[in-house]
Amino acid sequence: MKERTQLIEPDFSFYRVKNELTVDGIPVSKLVEKYGSPLYVYSGRAIRESYRRLSQALKGLPVQICYAMKANSNLHILKLLKELGAGCDLVSYGEWHRAEAVKIPRDRRVLSGVAKTAAELDALMNLPQAGVSSIHVESVMEFELIVLMANVKKRPLTVSFRYNPDVDAQTLDQISTGRKKDKFGLTREEILDLCVNFGDDDYVRIGGLSIHIGSQITKTAPYEKAFKALDRLCREVEFHLGRKLDGVDLGGGIGVSYVGEKTLPLNRYAALVKKYFSRYPKIVIEPGRSLVANAGILVSEVVYSKVRPGSRMLILDTGMNDLLRPALYGAEHAIVPIDSTPDLRAKAWDVVGGICESTDYFARGRKLAVEGLPGERLAFLSSGAYGFSMSSTYNTRPRVAEVLVDRGKVKLIRRRETIEDLLGPEA
Ligand code: PLP
Repeated sequence: MKERTQLIEPDFSFYRVKNELTVDGIPVSKLVEKYGSPLYVYSGRAIRESYRRLSQALKGLPVQICYAMKANSNLHILKLLKELGAGCDLVSYGEWHRAEAVKIPRDRRVLSGVAKTAAELDALMNLPQAGVSSIHVESVMEFELIVLMANVKKRPLTVSFRYNPDVDAQTLDQISTGRKKDKFGLTREEILDLCVNFGDDDYVRIGGLSIHIGSQITKTAPYEKAFKALDRLCREVEFHLGRKLDGVDLGGGIGVSYVGEKTLPLNRYAALVKKYFSRYPKIVIEPGRSLVANAGILVSEVVYSKVRPGSRMLILDTGMNDLLRPALYGAEHAIVPIDSTPDLRAKAWDVVGGICESTDYFARGRKLAVEGLPGERLAFLSSGAYGFSMSSTYNTRPRVAEVLVDRGKVKLIRRRETIEDLLGPEA
C-alpha cells in the first residue's frame, strides 16, 4: 500500500505519494517538466466526483445543473461537464459561443449578465428561442429592449426576471451580489411593475424568476432567506400573471474549502431547495466554483528569494495575472511544496508574484517548508475555479498552459501562449 497524504478535503485527486504531490497518482513534477511552469493542472476525476455529489444530494428533484462557465470555461472542462449532463449559465455572447463549440444543448443554457448589448441580443434573436432556454433580465430597460426587439423580429423567447432579494450572502464583500447596493437584478417592485404593465407578451414569455446572491457561500442562513423571499415573490408574480410560472433558477454560490473552512452540507442545501420549490416542474441551479475549484491547482517555481532581518520573501514565476483572487479580493489559497522535504523546518514566508503591482501577494507570513532556492516548486491548491478564467496578459506575460488528467491520461488542454499570440492583434 502506497503512503498517501490527502491534501484537499473532500476531494481525492491531489495527494502525496511518499513526499511527492500527485494528481490521481501522477507526479505533478513530471507534468511541470513536460509542460513548463507556471502550469494549471486539473483532475477530471475530481470534477466528476463534485458533480456526482451535488446530483446525488438533489436526487428526486427536477433540477437541471447549469454550470456557471465563468468559473472555468476551458472547452475540455465544458465537454466533460456536458457529458455528465450539465447545461450552462452564460454571462456573455463569448461564453455562448463556447457552449456552441462543445454543443451544450440550447435548451440547457441560461443567459445572465447586466449589460447584454442590443447587438448581442440581435444576434441571439436570429436563432430559435434566442439560442438559450431563458434570458435572465437584469433591468427594466433591458426588458423593454427585449420586448421591442422580439416584436420587431417576430421571434418568441422566454425570459426570467433576476430578483435582487437584498440578502447578505455572508461572504467576501466583493463577491456578494444579492444586496440592494449590488448592481445585479431587479427589485421586487420593479418585477411586479413589469408583470402588471407588460404581463405576458405575444413574443416574450415570463418563464420564471431567478436569483444569485453571491459566491463562496458557506452557511445555510443566506440561502434560506433568499429562497423564502423568492418563494414569496413567485407567488405574487403568479397572482398578477394569473398562471403558474414554469420554474425557478436558484443561481450558484455553494462554497468550497480553501484553507480548511467549514462548507455548506449539500444535503441541507438540497433540503432547502425541496422545502421552497418542489412544486415547480423545473428548477435550475448554476454552480460554478463548487464543481471545479478543488479540481485544479496552479503550479509555480521560485525564481528568487529575499531574506532580510524580519522578512523572508519568495518570488515566484507566476503572479496576479495568472491567479488574481488573492490580489483582487484578499482570497486565500493553501500553498504546498510539490516535493515535501520532511526534515525541513517550516518558516514564515511572504509569497509574491512577478507583476509590478504592490497587491501582487499570494500570502503573507505563510508557514512553508522550503529553502527559497530557485527552481523549488509550489502548488496553489483549489485553483480550478476563477483561476485561469480570470487570468490576463498584464505586463505582457503570456497566459500559462492547462493540463487535464482524466482516466489515467494526461492531456494538454490549452497550450501556453506565446509572445507572438500577444503582439499579433497589434500588427
Ligand atoms: N450564476 C451567476 C449569475 C453568477 O454571477 C455566478 C458567479 O458569479 C454564478 C452563477 C456561479 O457562482 P459560484 O461559482 O459561486 O457557484
